[in-house]
Amino acid sequence: MVSPTRSQVQTLRNYIGGQWVSPQATEAQEVRNPATDELLAHVPLSSQADVAAAVDVAASAFLSWRATPPQERARYFFKLRQLLEEHREELARLITTEMGKTLDDARGEVQRGIENVETACGIPSLMMGYGLEDGAARGIDEEVIFQPLGVFAAITPFNFPFMISFWFWPYAVACGNTFILKPSEQDPIVQQRVFELIEQVGFPAGVINLVNGAKEAVNSLLDHPKIQGISFVGSTKTAQYVYAHASGNGKRVQASGGAKNAIVVMPDADLDMYLSTIMNSCFGAAGQRCLANSLIMPVAGAHDQARERLTQAAAKLHLGNGLQKGVELGPVVSAAARDRIVAAITSGVEEGAEAVLDGRNARVPEYPHGYFVGPTILDQVSPQMRVYREEIFGPVIGMTPVSSLDEAIELINAKEYGNAASIFTQNGFAARKFRYRVQTGNIGINVGVAAPMAYFPFSGAKSSFFGTLHPQGRDVVRFYTESKVVITRWTPGDSTPVVGVGR
Ligand code: NAD
Repeated sequence: MVSPTRSQVQTLRNYIGGQWVSPQATEAQEVRNPATDELLAHVPLSSQADVAAAVDVAASAFLSWRATPPQERARYFFKLRQLLEEHREELARLITTEMGKTLDDARGEVQRGIENVETACGIPSLMMGYGLEDGAARGIDEEVIFQPLGVFAAITPFNFPFMISFWFWPYAVACGNTFILKPSEQDPIVQQRVFELIEQVGFPAGVINLVNGAKEAVNSLLDHPKIQGISFVGSTKTAQYVYAHASGNGKRVQASGGAKNAIVVMPDADLDMYLSTIMNSCFGAAGQRCLANSLIMPVAGAHDQARERLTQAAAKLHLGNGLQKGVELGPVVSAAARDRIVAAITSGVEEGAEAVLDGRNARVPEYPHGYFVGPTILDQVSPQMRVYREEIFGPVIGMTPVSSLDEAIELINAKEYGNAASIFTQNGFAARKFRYRVQTGNIGINVGVAAPMAYFPFSGAKSSFFGTLHPQGRDVVRFYTESKVVITRWTPGDSTPVVGVGR
C-alpha cells in the first residue's frame, strides 16, 4: 500500500492478469505532494511491450468473463462497493495528498465514484434487451440483445484521479468486457490503492488491469488491434488527438475534453441563498474541474452586487494544505500548472482586465514550497482576451458584464467549448429560455456545478466532447456493447415431433 505518511518513496507497479508487475519501461516520473513538494512516488511510464502484455491477458480473459451471467458479474461490484465504502477516508486522503484538492472535495469525489459502482450493480436490468412477438411479421419474432465486444481501455486526467475511472470500467466490465485503465501520470497513487481493493474482490485474472504511463502507453492502446474501444477524459487537444487516432484505427471512441463554463447572474438572482453554490463552482478543487465556472456574466444591474459579494467571499477563502481542517482552497496540481495559471492572469491584466482580487503572489507560510495560487477575480473581461477564450483550470474568475440574457446566451453559444452553463434567477421564463437555447451538454438552473448523477450521461458538446455516447449511465452501456437483432421463425416442420401445433 502506498501511504503518504511513509517516508519511503515507492515505485508504482502495473496490475496485469491479477499480478502486480514492474513494467519493462526504463522511464519514470516523479509524483509530488502539491501542498509540500514532497516526493511521494515514482511512476513508471509503461512501454508498448507493457501495454501489449496487458492487452493479451485481457483478451484471453474475455471469453470466460463474457460467459459469466450478468447477475454473477454484478456480485463482484457489490463486494467492490463494500470495500470502497470501508476505505472511503483513506482514499480521500490519498487524493488530497497527491492532487491537492481539499479533503471535503476529495470525499465528494470518492462518493461520486462509489455511486457509479452502485449503478453498475444493476447491470442485468441495464443491459437487458427487448423483443416483440410477431415483431417482424405474423409468426416471426424479433428481439435485440446487447453483447460485450472484448477489450476496452480508459485514459483519465489528473483532476479526478479516483472518480473518473469509475465512469467507465465498472460498466464495461459488468457488461462482460475486459478492461485496461491508464490513469494520469500526475497523480496515479490512489489507483494503486483502488487496484489493491480490486485484487481483494477477486475478479478473474485479466478482467481488469492497470497500466501506468503517459504518451507511449496511450499511443500503444490507441494502436493495438485487439482493443475495441477507448474512453478518454482530458484536455481538448489530447481528446481531439485520441478521437482522431483511435477512430482512424476503427475503434469506438468517447473523448471528453476541456471546458470554459459560464454562470449567468440575472438581476433577480437570490445571491443570499446561492452565493456559496456559486463560490463552490468557481473555486472548488481550486478551479480544476471540467464543470468549474470560470466566467461570470452578470446581466444589467446584477454586476455591482455580484462583484462585491463574490470578491468579499473569495477574499476570505482559507488557502492551505487541503488535508488541514478549515482549509477551503488547496494548491494546484503542479508547479507547472501554477506558473501557467499565473501567466494567464498576467495576460488578462495586460489585455485590460481589472484585477479585483489577485492571487498571483499568494503564499502559505507553513508550506513555502506548495504550488499555491490565491483566489483571483478579473473584472471587465472581454471576449477577445485570452482569459476569456482559454480554459485556465485554476482559481480564477473572469467577469464579463452583459446587457441582456440574449447577449449572454449568444456569447456562451459562440464559445468553442460546450461542457456546462448555469443561470441564477427567480424567473422561470428566463430559466426556460436558457435551458432551451444554450448549446452546452450540462445546464444548471440555480445550480453551480451541473454534475450528472451516475445514472445520467455526463454530457458535453462542441470541443468538450468528441463522439456520440457519453460517459456514465446507459450511454456507457450502449458504448460498451453491440446490439444484435435476432429474427426468428419456426414452422411445424422445423422440430419433430410436436404435439398440438398451433398458435
Ligand atoms: P491531459 O489531456 O493533459 O491528460 C489526460 C490524459 O491523456 C492523461 O492520462 C495523459 O497521460 C494523457 N496524455 C496527455 N498528453 C498526451 C499526448 N500528447 N498523447 C497521448 N496521451 C496524452 O489532461 P489533464 O491535464 O490530465 O486534465 C485536465 C483536462 O481534463 C482539463 O482540460 C479538463 O477540462 C479536462 N476534463 C474534462 C472532463 C469532462 O468531462 N469533459 C472531466 C475532467 C477533466
